[in-house]
Amino acid sequence: MPKIKVENLTKIFGRQPHRAFDYLKRGWSKQDILKETGLTVGVNQVSFEVEAGEIFVIMGLSGSGKSTLVRLINRLIEPTAGSILIDGEDIVRMNAEQLQQVRRKKLGMVFQKFALFPHRTVLENVEFGLEVQNIPKKEREEKAKNALALVGLNGWENSFPDQLSGGMQQRVGLARALANDPDVLLMDEAFSALDPLIRKDMQDELLELQTTMQKTILFITHDLDEALKIGDRIALMKDGAIVQIGTPEEILTNPANEYVEKFVEDVDRSKVLAAEHVMKRAETITLDKGPR
Ligand code: ADP
Repeated sequence: MPKIKVENLTKIFGRQPHRAFDYLKRGWSKQDILKETGLTVGVNQVSFEVEAGEIFVIMGLSGSGKSTLVRLINRLIEPTAGSILIDGEDIVRMNAEQLQQVRRKKLGMVFQKFALFPHRTVLENVEFGLEVQNIPKKEREEKAKNALALVGLNGWENSFPDQLSGGMQQRVGLARALANDPDVLLMDEAFSALDPLIRKDMQDELLELQTTMQKTILFITHDLDEALKIGDRIALMKDGAIVQIGTPEEILTNPANEYVEKFVEDVDRSKVLAAEHVMKRAETITLDKGPR
């Protein structure tokens, strides 16, 4: 069973959103639907599956529907149609209490702006999510310290966020998401606010961490280089729909249509394909297929 399975997920903004459905099914463009009905298609019949332990990147330009998709998965907004299954359970159809359980036990979120509390120490920030769950102080502290050690922030427990660099603050954000050892990490433009060099470090660090932690990661980014670097697979979005899902290699060497072709035309293929983890991944895929 896939860890995450999104099926036909659709979000149409505006009054009486179902009015747009027929047009969507007939393949009308988002622009034409807007003209005809005044409704905006945010996410258009999106389907994908993420396997446990996979880094699945949702990638697309501004306005392509990434934030809407994240807000749907976070259940901050209601879909017009479709389902989101985590471990086979549809979170769209859950009541508030069930959803809370899933959020606490299975989902860790990492955001671009870290969302750290300035008046709490680093340790207290990481403990926050555990506090809400009434986990006893001692256990909380232990979990938070372990998570901080994992992201290389040993010794910074008693500092305050503004004493840390941007990269370190993002690590605190990551530690906070990891503290409760969730199966799934939702990383929404998590590295987008970082300086380019620190951003590269964080990407490397995430890949390094992932070799041991093996989380299922849904990573949202508008940055193609980042997507190609860290994604086991990438879903490329345009106008709310997914235009191609594939490994970085597949997207680069076998683009589904002209849009994807244009999208990747400036990429230095040899550099992407020569990255250590990409080579390793290619080996694993070949091995999985058995002897040729
Ligand atoms: P991205 O995150 O890829 O930049 P968004 O998900 O923010 O894209 O936007 C996808 C589309 O949905 C855009 O056309 C945007 O204008 C529209 N949209 C997003 N939120 C709303 C909203 N609350 N009301 C109306 N339209 C929205």
